[in-house]
Amino acid sequence: MTKRETFDFDLARSKARIRAALDGVITIDAAGVVAEWNPAAERIFGYKADDAVGRSMADLIVPEQLRDQHRAGMRRFLASGEGRVLDQRLEMPAVRADGSEITIELTITSFTAGGEQWFTGWTRDITGIKETELELARSEQRFQAIVEHSSDVITILDGEGNWLYTSQAGSRLTGYQKGHDPEGGILSLLHPDDVPLALEAFQEVVAGTRLPDEPVELRILDVNGSVLFFETVGINMLDNPAVNGVVLHARDITERRSAEQELGLRTNQLAGVLGSIQLGVLVEDENRRLAIANEAFTKLFGSPVPAEELVGLDCQELAEQAKGLFVDPDGFLTGIQDCITRVTPVTEEVVLVDGRVLERDYVPVSSGEGEVAGHIWMYRDVTDRKRAQEEREHLLEAERQARRSIEASQAALEVQNRSLRELDRLKDEVVATVSHELRTPLTSIVSFSELLDDDETGPLTARQHEFVGTIRRNADRLIRVVNDLLLLARLESQTISLEPEPVDLRELAALVVANHAPAAAAKHITLEIDSHDGAPAWADPVRIDQVIGNLVANAVKFTGDGGQVTVRIGADDTWHRIEVTDTGMGIPADELDQLFQRFYRASNARVHMTPGTGLGLAVCHAIVRLHGGQIDVESTEGEGSTFRVLLPAVPGDRSG
Ligand code: ADP
Repeated sequence: MTKRETFDFDLARSKARIRAALDGVITIDAAGVVAEWNPAAERIFGYKADDAVGRSMADLIVPEQLRDQHRAGMRRFLASGEGRVLDQRLEMPAVRADGSEITIELTITSFTAGGEQWFTGWTRDITGIKETELELARSEQRFQAIVEHSSDVITILDGEGNWLYTSQAGSRLTGYQKGHDPEGGILSLLHPDDVPLALEAFQEVVAGTRLPDEPVELRILDVNGSVLFFETVGINMLDNPAVNGVVLHARDITERRSAEQELGLRTNQLAGVLGSIQLGVLVEDENRRLAIANEAFTKLFGSPVPAEELVGLDCQELAEQAKGLFVDPDGFLTGIQDCITRVTPVTEEVVLVDGRVLERDYVPVSSGEGEVAGHIWMYRDVTDRKRAQEEREHLLEAERQARRSIEASQAALEVQNRSLRELDRLKDEVVATVSHELRTPLTSIVSFSELLDDDETGPLTARQHEFVGTIRRNADRLIRVVNDLLLLARLESQTISLEPEPVDLRELAALVVANHAPAAAAKHITLEIDSHDGAPAWADPVRIDQVIGNLVANAVKFTGDGGQVTVRIGADDTWHRIEVTDTGMGIPADELDQLFQRFYRASNARVHMTPGTGLGLAVCHAIVRLHGGQIDVESTEGEGSTFRVLLPAVPGDRSG
């Protein structure tokens, strides 16, 4: 073949190829005018080659809104040789002759021939493909929306259990990233103890022997190793070509399980607490079925059945069976009924036929919505407490009675005291009157016996002298007694008052000692005075002289031959002190506290027949008390005595 022949052959072959090509082939010149339009292009765009050739391609097939862009691209290429769209697969919209829009796939090449620039486009209508693709994408989106956003974890395994897919919820709940592929496959995410169960269930699903409504509870370990509980259902879709796998729906029930566990824990705790208390507790549910009873409850009522076996029984029936245990069986039943109808807490007592007394608390259990969710009964044995209370009441009553009788006898005593005081006063009055009445005749007896003794009234015989002497001595003694009695009565009734003045007790004591010196000397008694300097006392000198005189006279009288009597005068900030100590017979210890009572004479003085009236110390006591002072005695029988008088250093400030 000549060169020309070869060229013609190639050309013919190219033309034939173009004509027969499945793709539309369109060639345009630099001005965009169509030079070639093959039959496939005719089919795609609906223009015959004769209609198309010679017309602007842009006007033919480029949608109006893209035409400017198309022309600008052509110009740019022609000017710069730079073609952004050349030699690559493009997808774009195009318009057909009938105005309908299609999507085409297009590859453009450029070449020069005869000094001209040409472009050839190879194109294919992909509208159908596009739509299918879109539909696919939409369905994929729907699937994603349903599956990926489902709160259940959806997993697809193949027939061998290999892991194909897990939805978004899987990584959200377990913390594993999407695409996480552990070495041991999906099984290694399971709690080891649950692996056998999971395998068995999977095989049953594959074999079709397990129905989708039989969930398996499986534990999954999350990325931190914490346990999550999943309720899992498997659906065999191996025969469904679209899925070709086993679909697992897993629902996270961790919260439910932990709530259940918590509930179980609380129930156990409650049972533990109830089991350990003395209080008998019975809890009914809203249908009056027994929900909880503790051991103390069954013990209180002597139930032959343990507490846990009572659970679920009808409480009304139980009450009917137990009513015989109560003293008032019908009252027991109506009491329960009343509580349940009133639905307010009540505490009351019930008495058992065996004598025990039980205190019962009723507490209604209310649900959050204000409905009754159950009833709680609590029984405690208060028999001992009741008995103790009764005993206490008895005791209290006895005490009240005792107090009443004490009060009555106190009142009687008071009456008695009053009459005794009255008697005492009368007696003092009598004594005072009698003494007063006695004094005058006694004085005249003394005076006349003195006159008789005087030789002026005529001589007396020796015997008459003796008689007159006896009369005088006894009359003198009587006068002293009468004087003492009268003084005492007046001191005690305070009908005479003291005439206090500053008194030098040392001087007073020295005079008394001097007066008694002869009597002491007669018994060879050493009578001494031991005075210390001291301020004058505020006292009635006549009465204090009487006190010291009585004490010194007693000391000399109750001290035997050759004894010793010492008078001590002293003072401190608080008291003036007068002490008279002797080495005489002393006073029996058990009589000391009666010594200052009028007419009291110690037993040893009476035995020794020492004369006396028992009035001297009573007079001393009355005088000292009137001065606000104290008098007391220390004595040892057979050894001697010390009488101590304290007069207040500041007058009227002390009393004992
Ligand atoms: P009288 O001395 O007149 O009996 P008093 O009232 O002075 O009466 O004394 C009462 C009694 O106290 C005395 O009888 C005596 O038993 C006892 N008594 C008083 N002073 C002394 C004393 N110094 N030693 C022993 N006994 C005394």
